[in-house]
Amino acid sequence: MPLATFAGAKTCSYALTGPFNVFRLASNLTQFSIRKGIFRNNKFKYLNLSKVKDMSERKLPRFIMCFCTGECPGFAKLDLWKLINFVRNELDVEYAIIHPQLCVTDGDNFFRDYLKETDKNKIYIIGGCDPRMQRKMFKDAFAEKGLDFDKQVISLDLRNMETAEAMKKVEEAVSKVVGA
Ligand code: SF4
Repeated sequence: MPLATFAGAKTCSYALTGPFNVFRLASNLTQFSIRKGIFRNNKFKYLNLSKVKDMSERKLPRFIMCFCTGECPGFAKLDLWKLINFVRNELDVEYAIIHPQLCVTDGDNFFRDYLKETDKNKIYIIGGCDPRMQRKMFKDAFAEKGLDFDKQVISLDLRNMETAEAMKKVEEAVSKVVGA
């Protein structure tokens, strides 16, 4: 989402996320330039244009978090909202969503509605339980739409983790997908 803001030659005072335009005024106040910038881990960085082009053209993964009803002891240490907002705001994902329990009927209904035959190139990162369990439970839903679970899904076991640990694990998975 392009967004313009003012900034000094080296600083920006707005806490925004995602690539956006930064209007830079030179110290002699006679010249300006527009550059792209991004906030990552609470630090502002300028991006070069080729990087911005790469980011917009690159196929960003979609993150789905299965939270096991919210009552599973395996997620007791995980702050769901902190994790999901970190993923959607700070990582290179197309979007991040939460489902309460993907492995039951409404999870099947969700996948049936959500997965599209045209999404053969999409990568889905699914946070939840054991990857073998996820494969067993979700692969048919992907196959029904002609999608390949083994190629298109990265399953992450995020149980029994502190929030920071889960964030790191998702960040590493996203970085592998986008080649960052
Ligand atoms: S898919 Fe895994 S994480 Fe999600 S509800 Fe079922 S057991 Fe829990």
